[in-house]
Amino acid sequence: MDVHASISEALRAGRSTLDEESGKRVLAANGIKVPASLLIAEPDGASGAFTKLSPPLVAKIVSPDIVHKSDIGGVKVRIGSAEELETALREIESAAKAHTDDIEGYLVEEMAPAGHEVVVGGSTDQTFGPIVMFGLGGIFVEVLADVAFRICPITPVDAREMIDELKAVKLLRGARGGIHASEEAIVDTLLKVGGEDGMMLALEGKVTEIDINPLIVSENEAIAVDARFVLKRD
Ligand code: ADP
Ligand code: MG
Repeated sequence: MDVHASISEALRAGRSTLDEESGKRVLAANGIKVPASLLIAEPDGASGAFTKLSPPLVAKIVSPDIVHKSDIGGVKVRIGSAEELETALREIESAAKAHTDDIEGYLVEEMAPAGHEVVVGGSTDQTFGPIVMFGLGGIFVEVLADVAFRICPITPVDAREMIDELKAVKLLRGARGGIHASEEAIVDTLLKVGGEDGMMLALEGKVTEIDINPLIVSENEAIAVDARFVLKRD
């Protein structure tokens, strides 16, 4: 896939972000795992999904007007059958219609194996330029601000230190009976975003922000189940 072509195409279409599917294709082209997926135009066009994808599945709204999909009922998880999928898509459609007329379709994808939800981000600091961030998902980032930042490029040692400095790191390491998340997979993802050959530097001047929220990290892998790229418009 040509990353630069999909960025130019989005800009030509007047967008300042990549849609989720394009964002995930950029991640995959950079070696970050994403779920197998299909884009469906209409709720009743979903019958083929179960022959192409392995359940359980997840369905999501695709609309340039909806950034926080689950806030409006735009994400359904753990879908086990074709009937459930059609019902889920209809529910997503009616929830989305309350917010926008611009529904581009529905992303149907495989569910990631159970793991910890973490956030890997890249942004552009006015003073320091490209930076990379890491934190645990949900309240840890949003309420407790338990996050680590570094200026790009980071090394594997930096990436390990970013994990170590989180107050909630014990949760990642299996405290309270949870899964011990693969730190190797986290380090690898952090480098692919913020390392020497990472996307923040490779796409500097084209992409100002990358948000993988969440990356789901199990014992042996990390899968990016949501992706947001903010583009620089000239
Ligand atoms: P948004 O952030 O726009 O609300 P997400 O795509 O992040 O939507 O999905 C919301 C939540 O649904 C995620 O935080 C995650 O818990 C769950 N989820 C989404 N996609 C998957 C997937 N492929 N596998 C497992 N869980 C998923
Ligand atoms: Mg998300």
